[in-house]
Amino acid sequence: MKKLRLIALVNLILIFMNATPGKAAVPAKISYIVTFPEAQAHYAEIEMTVSGLNQPALDLKMPVWTPGSYLIREFSKNIESLTATANGKAVAAPKLNKNTWHINTTGITSVTVKYKVYAFELSVRTSFIDVSHAFLSTSGIFLWPKGMLDQPSTINIKPYKDWNKVSTSLEKVGGDAFTLTSPNYDILYDSPIEVGTQDVFGFDVNGVKYEVAMYGGGNYDKERLKVDMAKIVAAEVNVFGENPNKHYTFIVHNKLRNGGGLEHLSSTVLGASRNNYGTERGYRGFLGLVAHEHFHLWNVKRLRPIVLGPFDYETENYTTNLWIAEGFTAYYQTLILRHAGISDTEDFLTGMAGDINTVENQPGSKVQPLAESSFDAWIKSYRPNENSVNTGISYYDKGAVVGMLLDLEIINSTGSKQSLNDVMKYMYTTYYKGKKRGYTDAEFKAAFEKFAGKKLDDFYAKYINGLTPFDYNKYLGYAGYKITDDLANSNEPTMGIVISNGPKKTVTTVFRGSAAWIQGINVGDEIVSIDGTPVTDPGTAINGKKVGDQINVTVTRDGQAMIIPITLLRNPMQKNKIEELPNATPQQLAVRKKWLNL
Ligand SMILES: [Zn+2]
Repeated sequence: MKKLRLIALVNLILIFMNATPGKAAVPAKISYIVTFPEAQAHYAEIEMTVSGLNQPALDLKMPVWTPGSYLIREFSKNIESLTATANGKAVAAPKLNKNTWHINTTGITSVTVKYKVYAFELSVRTSFIDVSHAFLSTSGIFLWPKGMLDQPSTINIKPYKDWNKVSTSLEKVGGDAFTLTSPNYDILYDSPIEVGTQDVFGFDVNGVKYEVAMYGGGNYDKERLKVDMAKIVAAEVNVFGENPNKHYTFIVHNKLRNGGGLEHLSSTVLGASRNNYGTERGYRGFLGLVAHEHFHLWNVKRLRPIVLGPFDYETENYTTNLWIAEGFTAYYQTLILRHAGISDTEDFLTGMAGDINTVENQPGSKVQPLAESSFDAWIKSYRPNENSVNTGISYYDKGAVVGMLLDLEIINSTGSKQSLNDVMKYMYTTYYKGKKRGYTDAEFKAAFEKFAGKKLDDFYAKYINGLTPFDYNKYLGYAGYKITDDLANSNEPTMGIVISNGPKKTVTTVFRGSAAWIQGINVGDEIVSIDGTPVTDPGTAINGKKVGDQINVTVTRDGQAMIIPITLLRNPMQKNKIEELPNATPQQLAVRKKWLNL
């Protein structure tokens, strides 16, 4: 027994000695050349060279998701024609699994791999290439060598035809815009790259350089955008106390109809509708998106749930805290516009009432707790189906409402001296800057309690982990406001369905608990007639009917007609607004002043 152990120890020492020189050798050098010989067919060609190798094998991997967008997207599905060469000769590169290629590198110090990537999905989290531009969502473009996520790499971009600009937060090498460098893969996968002829303009906020790269044209007013975007940046820096970036890039994809955004450490990608900048509503909507994604450079990119970095790029990364990471960001996107002086009190209160209505009118808010909504983002929020409205609640909308309630709680309990801003700044300073890690659920709760000066077990049990309806008036009352439902006394009947607007009146949603739900109308049923009258306008189909009336609905299902009797129920939809309480006290007015930066 002892002898055996001794032999094992000798072996271990030998292995260690063998391994050490390899480790101590010059680290591998990784470079990429990106070309677009078939941009018209939506392809990028990547030539990746890994040199300085001193290891028996090299596994190359592609992420299966992109941070910030919680869905397994299997980016390797877009890779084709991968070949490898070493010393001028082809070497085998068989696949080990869906996203890993394996190369035997015994006696080989340098390998070059070539592959094509098909890119034809224009969204903020996927790549898109055509003759007008290339948007490289890097986690779906660049393979990484297993074990080398911490290694630097260089990227040389050879643009297609007249493309003359690169917009990215990656650093340029020697001032050459087409040669980029990344210190490690966490930075590379967090730095999308726009290549083309985009319209680029910039502004400065306290020495930090901001670049805006507009693809796709649009009726935007650059000078107005520069002023308003700078106001948003300044208001957000004010929350956290510092701007950790030296430069920041907004990549904006203007399309006929587009929206959404994805946050990164030092950049963001925004979708916008190119003709929407001309209306006040459209312009405000774009600024809200700017405020949201830019706020993320702190909240989630740096101040983050503990599992969200360093990332595991090959599987789901589960957290119950997206109601803070996304929900609070959604709250701040409305609040910051008010604090920056871009929107007024009425705009802000209308925006928050909108979030409240979304929560209250979604049957799934009585089914799925907020923390669970976050945890299951991978399989529910990002994979919605026809029943999602009945089974879940968005951690954006409900998280924004929770942000508002906690903000009011903290302002009130600190005598209007502090607010949620102070909690965010404290958490950023303590965990991102101090401990250099993410936060746990318990640590964020402890911070809320520290500032609120009270335990929040009950709040968490009811609103974060439970399904208790919000006590809006308690919290809004702190600031001299109350909530009013304009439909509280309405006795309008409803079937409880949503019908498509096309020539066929097809049911797209059946609300849980509604008359249609109880009587068994299905999603996919085509509504033909009600009491024998053909349905042409779903909006007026039950005009003149009352709650309790029975109607006969003729539907076709799978090509067969059937009559479904329905007893109409009261429409439970709410239309809330936030209103001033009469005779607000000085204390309530002080809370309001602090909350809305009046
Ligand atoms: Zn977000």
